[in-house]
Amino acid sequence: MRTPIIAGNWKMNMTIAEAEELVKAMLDGLTAVKNVEKVLCPPFVDLDRVASLIQGTDIKLGAQNMYWEEKGAFTGEISPLMLKGLCQYVILGHSERRSYFGETDEWVNRKVKAALAHGLTPIICVGETEAQYDAGETESVVRGQVEGVLRGLTAEQVARVVIAYEPVWAIGTGKAATAEQAQQVIGGVVRATIGRLYGQDVAEQVRIQYGGSTNSKNIREIMSQPDVDGALVGGASLKADEFTAMVRITSEIYS
Ligand code: PEP
Repeated sequence: MRTPIIAGNWKMNMTIAEAEELVKAMLDGLTAVKNVEKVLCPPFVDLDRVASLIQGTDIKLGAQNMYWEEKGAFTGEISPLMLKGLCQYVILGHSERRSYFGETDEWVNRKVKAALAHGLTPIICVGETEAQYDAGETESVVRGQVEGVLRGLTAEQVARVVIAYEPVWAIGTGKAATAEQAQQVIGGVVRATIGRLYGQDVAEQVRIQYGGSTNSKNIREIMSQPDVDGALVGGASLKADEFTAMVRITSEIYS
């Protein structure tokens, strides 16, 4: 059985002082749950502080982005060497990176390889835009993204990644996909594509999250779907009560 994974993507929110307050408010609620993997993904500048606050607990830490080179003249970028030892996860290819900063599947693929090479687990985001959804292109777009971001990886590497299916039209809009829509794409497209490329055994090992306007009210139904292994949470991860409730509800489904 796959261990469910709930990750909070704080995006560009939380000063160090605010991060400290938020983590302290979540700590007891998160550590009380044992059968769900919990990951906090604060901005780079908060990572060190959050790492000390969660030290000794089973809460994991993730970054929100990374460049693929180890070091050099890449002003403003952060390398896998810098993240290694500080956090365990890194979100790659988030739709905001793709739309505002021009990241392509090829770039995401290079980052995924660099993350794996340095022992970081990538949470790789895929998902169609509203226009693509309206045009009935969800399946072909998501299939193409999965193929693109995983290109050149070994089966053993693919088994280690986490994929987040995040329909762009659902991110930050309050309009989550239905549980059936999430299952249809996660099971019928993402896991099916991995199965076709790497075999059913590998496909069964990969954890696939849903992301897009999840909260404590809709998480139960979404997480009850057989192929949904967790959630990548944006807005709701900035509220301690809401995020801990989502982790607790997920834990109830799996117990
Ligand atoms: C996200 O940014 O990954 C996300 C899912 O955001 P939200 O939960 O706010 O829709």
